[in-house]
Amino acid sequence: MNLVLFGPPGVGKGTQGEKLSTETGIQHLAMGDILRAAVREGTDAGKQAKVFMDGGRLVPDAVVIAMIEDVIIAGGETGFLLDGFPRNVAQAEALAEMLSRHDLNIDRIVFMDAPEENLLKRLCGRLICRACGFGFHRQYSPPRKAGCCDRCGGELYQREDDREEVIAQRLVIYSEQTKPLLAYYQDKPGFYKLDASGEMQSVYAALKQVVVN
Ligand code: AMP
Repeated sequence: MNLVLFGPPGVGKGTQGEKLSTETGIQHLAMGDILRAAVREGTDAGKQAKVFMDGGRLVPDAVVIAMIEDVIIAGGETGFLLDGFPRNVAQAEALAEMLSRHDLNIDRIVFMDAPEENLLKRLCGRLICRACGFGFHRQYSPPRKAGCCDRCGGELYQREDDREEVIAQRLVIYSEQTKPLLAYYQDKPGFYKLDASGEMQSVYAALKQVVVN
């Protein structure tokens, strides 16, 4: 099963994708995580990406397309869940072309959406573990011990691009560049729209339905 999850920043793609991956074994390919790892490792792609990411802008298409192709073709038999890629129509077209070259299909395309008010609350309170990348939220899913990851004890931090001014920029970029993906995908087979404004567990239950149906 190969899936694409898309939607605005803060809608819960990462949280839901991670949970689905843990339960089903489908490989979670989160473009933002792949880019952050490249920045940490100081690769050429990471160096190119950093300035765009810190400013809440999209990394150039050529950089992300090359990176995602590498991980897709390295993937196993269990299928993949793309989270945060594609983020514009040019990337969606490149994805379709790349998958057809490797004889692969997309089985489900899930558009997750929630009102901007929810997105802002989720993004502003988000905390990430520096060591394992696991996500927490100051209000909705706080760690047992402040500043410390429940899973591995690593240090929790706020992402540079989860500051208020960068969030505003990311939401603008979303409306201008990523939202047009809705028109691109909505008539394709396997397209679903998911209301992601509710609690994490109920959104997950709805996502799971989409995947098993
Ligand atoms: P995310 O973790 O999905 O919120 O992504 C964090 C940042 O990584 C975004 O604000 C962009 O700067 C960059 N990024 C992630 N995915 C893409 C993509 N498909 N195309 C371009 N830039 C991306």
